[in-house]
Amino acid sequence: MAHQISAQPGIMSVTPYVGGEGKTHGANHVTKLSSNENLLGPSPRAVEAYREISGNLATYPDGGHTALRQAIADVHGLHADRIICGAGSDEILSLLCQAYAGQGTEIVHTEHGFAMYAIYAKVAGSTPVVVKEDTRHTDVDALLAAVTDRTRLMFVANPNNPTGTLIPDAEIERLADSLPPHVLLVMDGAYAEFVREPGYDGYASLVKQRENVVMTRTFSKVYGLGALRVGWAFGPEHVIDVLGRVRGPFNVTSAALAAAEVAVRDTEWTEHCVIQNEVWREWLARQLARAGIPSDPSHGNFICARFPDAATAHAADEALRKRGLIVRDVQGYNLPGCLRITIGDETATRAVADTLTQFMASR
Ligand code: PMP
Repeated sequence: MAHQISAQPGIMSVTPYVGGEGKTHGANHVTKLSSNENLLGPSPRAVEAYREISGNLATYPDGGHTALRQAIADVHGLHADRIICGAGSDEILSLLCQAYAGQGTEIVHTEHGFAMYAIYAKVAGSTPVVVKEDTRHTDVDALLAAVTDRTRLMFVANPNNPTGTLIPDAEIERLADSLPPHVLLVMDGAYAEFVREPGYDGYASLVKQRENVVMTRTFSKVYGLGALRVGWAFGPEHVIDVLGRVRGPFNVTSAALAAAEVAVRDTEWTEHCVIQNEVWREWLARQLARAGIPSDPSHGNFICARFPDAATAHAADEALRKRGLIVRDVQGYNLPGCLRITIGDETATRAVADTLTQFMASR
């Protein structure tokens, strides 16, 4: 007999997320520049902490994430009680949707925003409302215009992935102040550590001052711990209380907790990675611009390179692949002609610049 088991409405409209590829055909040595990971790797001390955990695999992790929350609070000047940790910031985004959205509600996000916002909205039974972007810069007024009585959450990544653009602090404050009281603003700071703008604090002070803003962060990017899946959020007490009710009891592994705690305290390594990223990102952007491939100023660990058209971007992607360089085709985000390139180490960055310069010259 045919089964009559059906998933929740909305789930079958989800196209599963496909992460950045790491394999190619033909090239012996592959450099993955498709998922905005840190090619310099984690703090060496975090690797040691990770290894030590292998001596105690039988017991559950600390379900309260106490030491990690305290380390984050110390380094960022936050209150540990208002921090929650998750299996990647992805889990926290998902928990937010489960907790605040559902049938008959809407979640607002931008057209060029992170793909998981719409997926988690649909899985929660909510309707994602996509705000079209005429330019590559997020329009706060357009976000506000999309809000209805049904809106529960608004997701804004700043810096944004895949464009790398940054909405100025004053605009984010205006957004937070203009939202109606039933909407929670989620500031996704997956790339916040890379921002070098004076006065930028990744929304810590905004969250401290308001009841309607929560910020999310990850250990997958600047901290180089993508393999371990750990992220966190800092928010108003009422939000942290709600998320604490929704999350699983041991949602972050002991290895992830131990490595992340050491990584966040190793501010010297983080600073080194941030500076290296800035140096090579600016260098690559200049080289590509010279070769006829412009990009908007990026504040993350990647650039969104704009080729003259989709066919050229596709051919450039192939040329990079032949050299073992895997980047991310982001044309599906309605960014025609765009490839997102993670900033690697010096060798990888020079290889990208050489390949693309030769490619453009040969056309
Ligand atoms: N937000 C943004 C904007 C991202 O780019 C990513 C990762 N690509 C995430 C959230 C999720 O990161 P993670 O789950 O690894 O913390």
